[in-house]
Amino acid sequence: MDFVVTAAKWPTPGETIVATSFNVFPGGKGANQAVASARAGAKVSFVGAVGDDDLGQNALHNLEAHSINTKHVHVNEECNTGKALVTVVNGENSIIIDEGANGSLNEVHIEQLTALFTEADIVLMQNEIPFRTQEKVVEVCREIGVPVVYNPAPARKLSRPFLEKVQYLTPNEHEHRAIFSADKHMQTAFQQKVIQTKGKDGIDFWVNHDLRHIDSMKVTVVDTTGAGDTFNGVLATELARGYELEQAVVTANIAAALSVQKKGAQTGMPTETEIAKAVK
Ligand code: ATP
Repeated sequence: MDFVVTAAKWPTPGETIVATSFNVFPGGKGANQAVASARAGAKVSFVGAVGDDDLGQNALHNLEAHSINTKHVHVNEECNTGKALVTVVNGENSIIIDEGANGSLNEVHIEQLTALFTEADIVLMQNEIPFRTQEKVVEVCREIGVPVVYNPAPARKLSRPFLEKVQYLTPNEHEHRAIFSADKHMQTAFQQKVIQTKGKDGIDFWVNHDLRHIDSMKVTVVDTTGAGDTFNGVLATELARGYELEQAVVTANIAAALSVQKKGAQTGMPTETEIAKAVK
């Protein structure tokens, strides 16, 4: 859950200031991307963890309201539901995350989900769960032969053996630097898998060893929160439908542009009908 406070200025250390607004929204990269996929028309099952508290119930109800299967969400009685404390000043975010129950999703939970992964056309994963759990996900998916779209956010360093088991890697510019800036050989080895989103500057990706670029749509921006999540959710949906990467990127780019024209992360995410209308 996101606790979003807006203020006219940043408080200095030790200072107390009065907010101009405060709201609680369902959030989390995984949940946002699941909602983006579901709104784009995918049949989605969510794997994650919440605490045994009201926030966890709210988070689950929100997913269920989008027809997302929450049967595989682990409810941990010993943890709080994960929270993001978001401060917004002049449209700029600063965020502190309390991972809560997200940190308790472990390899054993994943091992028990082989049947679910076997049914899936695609698995979409982010960095808001422990790394060992992610390793288990890519291992199980590799064994079964299910492609993994991996959105490496928030930024974290990654190993070669891990990246080898991922089919699509979708960093933004900051995450791309965190993974590759210290090792250009690693960048060359894995660049074929990379779909790099660059905000208003478009998307770089590779098709058959050729670097491709697609410009972002020229739109009036209201709120870019959730643009990356919309892009990832729709990209995974289009790939699951069997579209080639280039076509999937084109559609995800259009969907993300629709999302930045509306306020809020999940509330700004376009429906299947809205995407189809904009793609024509
Ligand atoms: P966020 O954290 O804000 O959700 P991100 O940093 O993960 O996003 P970005 O690279 O900023 O990801 O944006 C993802 C995609 O959203 C872009 O590739 C583009 O398709 C779309 N997008 C983002 N900003 C704009 C913009 N100003 N105009 C049009 N499209 C945009």
